[in-house]
Amino acid sequence: MRELFRLTGSEQLSLIRSREISAEEATRACLARMEAVEPRVLAFRCVLRDAALSDARAIDAAFSRGEDPGPLAGLPIAIKDVICLAGHPTTCGSRTLGGFIPAFDATVIERLRNAGAVLFGKTNMDEFAMGSSTENSAYEKTRNPWDLGRVPGGSSGGSAAAVAADMVPLALGSDTGGSIRQPAAFCGVPGLKTTYGRVSRFGLVAFASSLDQIGPFGKSVEDIARSLAVIAGQDPHDSTSASVPVPDYVEELSRGLAPLRIGVPREYFPRGLDSQVGDAVRFVLDRARALGARVEEISLPHTDYAIPTYYILATAEASSNLARYDGVRYGFRAAGAKDLAEMYRRSRSAGFGKEVRRRIMLGTYVLSSGYYDAYYLKAQKVRTLLRNDFVEAFQQVDLIITPTTPSVAFRFGEKTEDPLQMYLSDIFTATINLVGIPALSLPCALSREGLPIGLQVVGPPFGEARLLSAAAALESDLNFRARHRPKALDP
Ligand code: GLN
Repeated sequence: MRELFRLTGSEQLSLIRSREISAEEATRACLARMEAVEPRVLAFRCVLRDAALSDARAIDAAFSRGEDPGPLAGLPIAIKDVICLAGHPTTCGSRTLGGFIPAFDATVIERLRNAGAVLFGKTNMDEFAMGSSTENSAYEKTRNPWDLGRVPGGSSGGSAAAVAADMVPLALGSDTGGSIRQPAAFCGVPGLKTTYGRVSRFGLVAFASSLDQIGPFGKSVEDIARSLAVIAGQDPHDSTSASVPVPDYVEELSRGLAPLRIGVPREYFPRGLDSQVGDAVRFVLDRARALGARVEEISLPHTDYAIPTYYILATAEASSNLARYDGVRYGFRAAGAKDLAEMYRRSRSAGFGKEVRRRIMLGTYVLSSGYYDAYYLKAQKVRTLLRNDFVEAFQQVDLIITPTTPSVAFRFGEKTEDPLQMYLSDIFTATINLVGIPALSLPCALSREGLPIGLQVVGPPFGEARLLSAAAALESDLNFRARHRPKALDP
């Protein structure tokens, strides 16, 4: 048999279910792989070795008693360190939350446990999910498994790198403006940002509440479908979670591409786009045509306004959400302050990193009296225009295909001095969050330097089933996983 850790989540699941391997063996294989490559990748904030092994043994015991431990029985999964897991540190990549141990599990964690998944560890991220390279983590710098001199993308860089390096078959991330899709593209794995309201956010530490969503990374689109089926659905603890029924994502995977109309927005192929990225996406569009889809050019005319709109609304919401880290109730408190105001000031100045402080300042500014109308309110109106672009587009087409990112993974330090350059990494992804629709990044080709290129498949609200089946058809045609693997780890 091939090395266990190389298998997709779905392949590991079926071996566990047929009891050809035990859940404990699957977890041990991931742990051994993790020990071999993690010193070079640095994807994890912590690994829950003992807890994972005892969870896996409990799954094996349930099988032995003739019980069905659930649809993800025995499958290891890594969790971005922005999602609360009771009894284990949740840092959000920040010093501010250095000693924070949540008292409860996020709803997604509870659902994963009930489905038999094995919680493997917490992954590194940009501080409070602000960033596109994971360089904003207050802790280690996670490396891209395809080239250890390059970033894995962000902010869910640890989750993407852990899956790409075969340390775990599945991981959860969060996506506010691209934080699942952009690292998925940089690390050559599929990653899904779900429709706003599709997955409960109870227990997800908030960045920008009108944009944040949780979603999975997997080794295959089927892995994504299997994990989405478990975490999707309404939750009484999260009033923004929707009561839309959850379809059978796995069952619907085989629907193919044939009758679909695919829109290609001309604004997503701008002059500055890396030509290798543009060529790779155009090649896939040709393949989509060959598989029976109708591909047509469309226009999303307000695209140029997406990044400024995103950075006004996301920072405004962040400045409000992060007000809770005051040194009183949560996390880090600076010593030696003479009064309350000084204690706030010192704790927040020392606890937050540079980018988080920049966002709080920007967000406070756009919400302040006198500027509110000019920035925040205006941005809300532009958000409606962006939404209307997509409403119109989806009257014409079933799905939209774009590049995920304007370039392949960049080197460490390349964009840290210029925040605007970093912000532009999300030029194709942030709009999707403003509109609230689902989108998946699918690895489609390798660049000349041997770095993955991602393609973004975008669907209408709650259109995950259609989106996943189209992505699965493209995936089996392109066969990226079988053809390429990160050489930096196993030359
Ligand atoms: N890179 C974007 C930002 O810095 C998106 C982050 C995210 O999706 N969490 O805001």
